[in-house]
Amino acid sequence: MVNKILIANRGEIAIRVMRACREMGIPSVALFSEADKEALFTKYADEAYCIGPPPATESYLNIQKVIQVAKGSGADAIHPGYGFLAENPKFARACEEEGLKFIGPSSRVLELMGDKVAARREMVKAGVPVVPGTDECVAAFQQARNIANEIGYPMIIKPSGGGGGIGMTIVANEGELLKALESSQAIATTTFGLCDVYVEKYLSNPRHIEFQILGDSKGNVIHLGERECSIQRRHQKLIEESPSPAITPKLRKEMGEVAANAAKWVGYEGAGTIEFLFSGGKFYFLEVNARVQVEHPVTEMVTGIDIVKEQIRIISGLPLSIEQKQVRMIGSAIECRINAEDPLNGFVPTPGKIKSYHSPGGTGIRVDSGVYTSYTIPPFYDPMISKLIVWGRDRNEAITRMQRALYEYIIVGTKNNIPFHKAVMENPRFVKGELGTHFIDRETTLIEDMKRIMEREKPLEEKLSHLFEEKRRIAAISAVAAITQMHSHRA
Ligand code: ADP
Repeated sequence: MVNKILIANRGEIAIRVMRACREMGIPSVALFSEADKEALFTKYADEAYCIGPPPATESYLNIQKVIQVAKGSGADAIHPGYGFLAENPKFARACEEEGLKFIGPSSRVLELMGDKVAARREMVKAGVPVVPGTDECVAAFQQARNIANEIGYPMIIKPSGGGGGIGMTIVANEGELLKALESSQAIATTTFGLCDVYVEKYLSNPRHIEFQILGDSKGNVIHLGERECSIQRRHQKLIEESPSPAITPKLRKEMGEVAANAAKWVGYEGAGTIEFLFSGGKFYFLEVNARVQVEHPVTEMVTGIDIVKEQIRIISGLPLSIEQKQVRMIGSAIECRINAEDPLNGFVPTPGKIKSYHSPGGTGIRVDSGVYTSYTIPPFYDPMISKLIVWGRDRNEAITRMQRALYEYIIVGTKNNIPFHKAVMENPRFVKGELGTHFIDRETTLIEDMKRIMEREKPLEEKLSHLFEEKRRIAAISAVAAITQMHSHRA
């Protein structure tokens, strides 16, 4: 087993990894930027080191500094979390060269999967169905037009080195093609330093279905079933669940085998995700995410498997702790990403001080967060406050439990998207499981529903924020009082 792990990340995912370390008896080391001195993860770690100013390039993305801290602290492994350096082959290679274990796949696999066109080609070789499109980068207009003639409009142009939905441009007809191509290439160049783009058929309102896979150094590869991540805003996931209401046991077996074989084909070691789009009863490979994902807890809730612990076992050269036939998905889990953003103002980020914080609890609730009362969310990073995850015996119970958890959740001081999640959880089509990646755009009443919910809760919010102001010295008692108030108010 590895002896000491440096976590090259921040916020909730840093704590998530440290929790696994603690359960495994492995000391954890945090590194942090000057903006994160007061962050919870720096207190949770056994040791913590400041590595520089807030801009990520000068701290969390600085390969040399990260490696220096790892070596100085005596850590023999680095967990990169998600984002930052998690899928950077240069970083993985630097770790390999310095004799540090990078908790993720090899730099060779990261390189291959980071180039989405190369990944597509590789998946075709592995016999995985891909979205109709190009198996090469598209540089010129004429080339793009030829492809369009083959696959038809609408199409989507995507940066090959991309991520986070950045630079993806939908093309409805030939008239839009040149402008879309140039725009996508320009964004790809400025954001990813590479102008390479490729083209796919644009599927109408597909479902986003992804499979969690685990591969060890002994050649064992298994899958832990699927997650559905169709509830997205601007191609970014907002609500995830497992299992998907659209996937039958037969399809799960088929897609799971395809995903595990794809991972085996590229020699994948570690935890990863094979993403698919699902439309018209067919599934198409989208991309591989070679890291632990934000939404991994929903899989953990239904399978009972700790994915981060498996990552640590894998890097230590141990076999997976389970075989495919032992994997069972029980019940249903849903995750809501709770962000500091203003739902009434285009969801712009609203970092700032959390005056009072009370997170939900009770049966079937998990909250992964890195915040606390009086913590100030810095403006430099992702404005996520927490991930609220619930488990229920079936999807209906998970939904009502999520409603109950959102109802208990109190965040005073920063605007957040809890009211929006409440609106989704009450939406009849969501409840029926009729999902698609355009769900939020098409459910035009969601914003109005949310406003109604906010209006309904306004007197309560005011009462609560008063209560918290007055009683901040006895925050725990006031939280209980708040819940009681809430009940009497609503009764
Ligand atoms: P990124 O890595 O930038 O997040 P992905 O390729 O994973 O990009 O796609 C993100 C989301 O964009 C998908 O979940 C889906 O909503 C949408 N998308 C991507 N490709 C297509 C496509 N060919 N047809 C329809 N929607 C797509």
